[in-house]
Amino acid sequence: MTANLRSYDQLFIGGRWRQPSTSERIAVISPHSEQPIAHVPSAGPADVDAAVAAARDAFDNGPWPRLSPQDRMQKVEALASIYGRHIDEMADLITAQMGSPRSFSRLGQAAGAASMIHLALATARDFPWVERRRGVLGEAQLHRTPVGVVGAIVPWNVPQCLIMPKLIPALIAGCTVVIKPAPETPLDALWLAEMIEKIELPEGVVSVIPGGPDVGEALVRHPGVDKIAFTGSSATGRRIAALCGEQLKRVSLELGGKSAAIVLDDADITKTVTGLKTAGLMNNGQACVAQTRILVSQRRHDELVEALADMMSTLAVGDPSDERTDIGPLVAQRQQQRVQDYIRSGQQQGARVVVGGADSPAPRGWYVRPTLFTDAENGMRIAREEIFGPVLTVLTYADEDDAIRIANDSDYGLAGSVWTADTAHGLEIAARVRTGTYGINMYMLDISTPFGGFKHSGIGREFGPEGLDEYVELQSVACNGKLPPLPR
Ligand code: NAD
Repeated sequence: MTANLRSYDQLFIGGRWRQPSTSERIAVISPHSEQPIAHVPSAGPADVDAAVAAARDAFDNGPWPRLSPQDRMQKVEALASIYGRHIDEMADLITAQMGSPRSFSRLGQAAGAASMIHLALATARDFPWVERRRGVLGEAQLHRTPVGVVGAIVPWNVPQCLIMPKLIPALIAGCTVVIKPAPETPLDALWLAEMIEKIELPEGVVSVIPGGPDVGEALVRHPGVDKIAFTGSSATGRRIAALCGEQLKRVSLELGGKSAAIVLDDADITKTVTGLKTAGLMNNGQACVAQTRILVSQRRHDELVEALADMMSTLAVGDPSDERTDIGPLVAQRQQQRVQDYIRSGQQQGARVVVGGADSPAPRGWYVRPTLFTDAENGMRIAREEIFGPVLTVLTYADEDDAIRIANDSDYGLAGSVWTADTAHGLEIAARVRTGTYGINMYMLDISTPFGGFKHSGIGREFGPEGLDEYVELQSVACNGKLPPLPR
């Protein structure tokens, strides 16, 4: 089992490799060379049906949901151990597919995904699977039982880190899972399927079916699916939530962001800019949590813009497989054009480009110049919409209340940060900003604490016990008489 860039002819349905129902193929294109690097089958409607039927049967009749959490965790531990032996290869595979610089894909993608397995296992060890409570009618017993058949739909930007917080808690809880990776990044998901095959789960428990929006939507609409766990754009999330609502299907949504970094007057500008290099531009700016609106007062504006410009004009843009690269290509030509259109729209709406611009920096590959805007208003498209590329916009605030008003003046509420010498004051600022996660003098996603969005950034949480809660239904059992003691 190697991560060599290789094509697949079969789909992973119900834990076995099966011939796809259609001859449709997905070409995986290198964003650096613009050449195809592999082909995989695209699932058709019959494959969605087969995967859901296998998952449904495994859930309703198979052993998996009836095993103890501890027995299921043993299987997940076996997966963690296989996965842990392939982190570098997984990082390289992700870089080849979608252009994440290797410096990021190593730690932020593959090693992060491996850690997510271990952290979910640690959470599950302390999870109250069975609990006793005193009710008004006497003692009650609470059961946390699996939610059922889960459809997990993910995008391409951090593909393994988006599969893991769905697949692993779902498996530990006793669910069966159908994973639909994005068409840009099917290879890491199919390689994960090979690892899952090695741990010999009961038939039907996991399927991996690559495909586009039609395959995702077939999974969402399928009456055999009990819950959809989705990460992607807010537009798609809105549609999925509506479809799930019709069937009263459980749904959790991790959606877009347009996060504000508030730089206070007492901030250390050098440290702030070093922090924003990662917080704003990680993964070529293709991060839902990217700090892309930089809020500063007039007093520190010029100093901050100058320091950001120095940082952004010296970024190494190029081959993502080179360890020294800061910014690789964007995932697809359509994404390159979209980001360049945003840069043009910022210029047309009157913002000033300090560094970068809408022209392509390389004759080949879907590269975009790291671009810094200032003299911008929060009403401009570059400040309101998620660009998903290496573009930062500086906005000026009058005073702290104004900074908080601008930070909150967004449809999104995923992340944010404050940069200050006074961390106690940073906590006060955090409490006034309506976002699901926040950072003081940093923004990093802490994969052991609940992650999710306010407002249009989502519904539900991943990681920690709250992330496991998303995959269980609560059952309360009352008893006319005394309950027997809990088994030790
Ligand atoms: P997208 O919504 O277009 O696609 C995401 C996934 O959904 C893909 O697998 C796609 O094939 C599938 N899909 C598309 N339409 C569908 C439909 N109608 N029914 C079912 N499935 C459908 O997202 P994208 O633009 O590819 O990904 C980037 C987005 O993901 C950004 O908005 C980013 O902020 C968001 N994101 C959020 C988080 C988070 O945790 N909050 C993390 C990463 C990315």
